Amino acid sequence: MKIEHNPKELEAMKEFHRGNRAEGLKLQEEFAAEFRKEYADKDHCPCKKACRYHGNCKECVAIHRAHQEHVPNCMREMLNRKIRMLSELTEHSIASEIEPPREVLRKEFQTISD
Ligand code: SF4
Repeated sequence: MKIEHNPKELEAMKEFHRGNRAEGLKLQEEFAAEFRKEYADKDHCPCKKACRYHGNCKECVAIHRAHQEHVPNCMREMLNRKIRMLSELTEHSIASEIEPPREVLRKEFQTISD
């Protein structure tokens, strides 16, 4: 089961946008039920950072809400996709004004230069 771009959840959102709230909620609960089952004992967190809160969404989200600097790592792909569309408005010239910070990744994602 894939979480990002999950077909059932995408269908649920279409139903919400059509005004079919009951159908949207039904599909959403089906997605949640599948997620609960599939990830009962499996890692669902895509974050690669060396972090003691890995997979602990409750505390991870609380930390990000508390410091207010940025969102949990799992939200990056979605937000970057939307930011990319905005960045097109300035021909991505923002890219030459910023440098991403160095991140400390878990061992399995580190390269030799790390
Ligand atoms: S909220 Fe935090 S712990 Fe949960 S999936 Fe996202 S990055 Fe991982």
